[in-house]
Parts: sequence; C-alpha cells; structure tokens
Amino acid sequence: MKKVLILSLLFLFSCTTAPISGRRQLITVSSQEEQTLGLQSFQQIVNQSKVIKGTPAANQVTRVGQNLAKHIDANYAWEFVLIDDKQINAFCLPGGKVAVYSGILSVTQDDDGMAVVMGHEIAHALARHGAERMSQDSLINLGGQLLGLGTGSNAVTAAYGLVSNYGVALPFNRKQESEADYIGLIIMSKSGYDPRKAVGFWQRMSSAGGGKTPQFLSTHPSDSTRIADIQKHMSEAMMYYTASAKK
Ligand SMILES: [Zn+2]
Repeated sequence: MKKVLILSLLFLFSCTTAPISGRRQLITVSSQEEQTLGLQSFQQIVNQSKVIKGTPAANQVTRVGQNLAKHIDANYAWEFVLIDDKQINAFCLPGGKVAVYSGILSVTQDDDGMAVVMGHEIAHALARHGAERMSQDSLINLGGQLLGLGTGSNAVTAAYGLVSNYGVALPFNRKQESEADYIGLIIMSKSGYDPRKAVGFWQRMSSAGGGKTPQFLSTHPSDSTRIADIQKHMSEAMMYYTASAKK
C-alpha cells in the first residue's frame, strides 16, 4: 500500500526535463502551483521595496530582460524591476518575475554583465530549480512519513506543506548552479550578449562586497570551479553569439 503510493507519486512527477541541458528531473510541484507562489512572493517583495523607474539603470534592466525573454521559449508573464537597495542581489521567480537590486550594478557594469546575471537567474526559474529543491526535501520527508506513522494522505500533506516554505533565498545545489550557468550562457549568447563577459562578471562578484559576503554569493557561490565550468561551454556559446550578430 505504502509502496504503491511512492511509486505512483514518482510516476506522476518524474516526467520533467530541464530546458537546454536536457537533464531529467524529479519535481513534485506543478508548474502552475509554482508560478502562483512565485507571483505571490514577487508582489510581496515589490510592495515592500522601492522600485526604481525611468533611470538609465532601470531601463537597462527592462531592455536586457525583454531581449533575453524574446529568445526564451516559455509561457511567462515576464516582469523586470530594479529595486533601490544596496545589497548585491538579483533573482527570478517562477513565472518570469525578475528583480535586480541596485547594489549589483557595480558588478554587472554593462548590458553584457546584466545579461550574465539575468540569464543565470532566469535559467534557475526555467529549469525549475526551486521546485526541484522543494521536491527533494519533500520526498525525503515523504519517505520519513511513510516509514513512520504517517498515513498516505498525511504524507502528501507534509510534502505539499513544504511548498509554503518556498522563498527567494532557497539555496541551490552545485549541479543546479552549474546548470544555470550553462543555460544562462546559451540564452545570453542567443540574445546577442558576449558570453566571454560571464568570466569577468563572476570574478568581480567573488571580490565584491568589500570583505562582507554579498547576499548573492550566499546562494550562488563563486569560485574557480564555476569559472572553469563556464569556460568549458564557451565555444558552444560563442557559436550562438556569432550567429546572433549575423541576424
Ligand atoms: Zn545561481
């Protein structure tokens, strides 16, 4: 009985593949559910923040974001906002809700740098990394419930209870980070931004913050492994970048 429940859950939720990388994923939250949560969190954050509009930096966020979105096959209601906050941070929530904090502008520096960070964040959302993390946690939980006293319906409730804990600062794992780098690199290149600028971006990021670890690095650690991994995909990215310039 318990086994049947696990098997049917795996069957129901295992049919997901990350875009571009093609990695198979186990996700127990529906896209719809995830996007509803994304929208709620985004509205909450925007309501509590000062959104900058009409400045060159705000226009850059919109310009780069819309250009990237044009080259992405996703049914998202995209939104791009620049938040007046000196923390070095940026995120994209499920459904295409992107926020860039003004503190990161010294690291992004230009449109290419902006495309690196936005492409990376959008990639996390496209590949549903937040939902994947939640699913891993909930499956562990589910397993625990089934081994313990939990009945089937309690276990499912427990799994979905984790959905409500979903927040912006959910740390990604190493595999997801490297996948977001790859997907982001391809997206930015297809959109006509120079993928070679990704290396400088991550170098600047790792030395940013003046001794204090930037918010961004707590969820997206930058090190030589990351940069080496990015270099591995550079020739493929350059192919897309060169093709985009010919259009
Ligand atoms: Zn990341």
